[in-house]
Amino acid sequence: MLKILEERGHADIDHIYNEIKRDFVSISLATVYKNINTMLDAGLIEEIKIPKKKSRFEIKKSKHSHFICEKCGEIYDIDVPKKLDFELPPGFEPKEASVMITGLCSNCK
Ligand SMILES: [Zn+2]
Ligand SMILES: [Zn+2]
Repeated sequence: MLKILEERGHADIDHIYNEIKRDFVSISLATVYKNINTMLDAGLIEEIKIPKKKSRFEIKKSKHSHFICEKCGEIYDIDVPKKLDFELPPGFEPKEASVMITGLCSNCK
């Protein structure tokens, strides 16, 4: 599973399942989900939640943001902005901020 994620970068559950099935014909989707959750708990992989779409998974690496192409659906790693200026209501204490940019990649533009 980690090998697939390493090769694919950001893969959704269907992609992972289909790839694994090539080597392990009898594996069930439930087993794949179970393994994903185990690896998430162990901090080996990360879930990228995309509104209205299936989550993608990737091997955990240094902090980065994502650019999601609306046309081809490809996800690109981008550097985290050096400074994020959010106006928070008084008394709010931020813990973490994540940035996700959607648009068109250079191939689709
Ligand atoms: Zn694209
Ligand atoms: Zn990424």
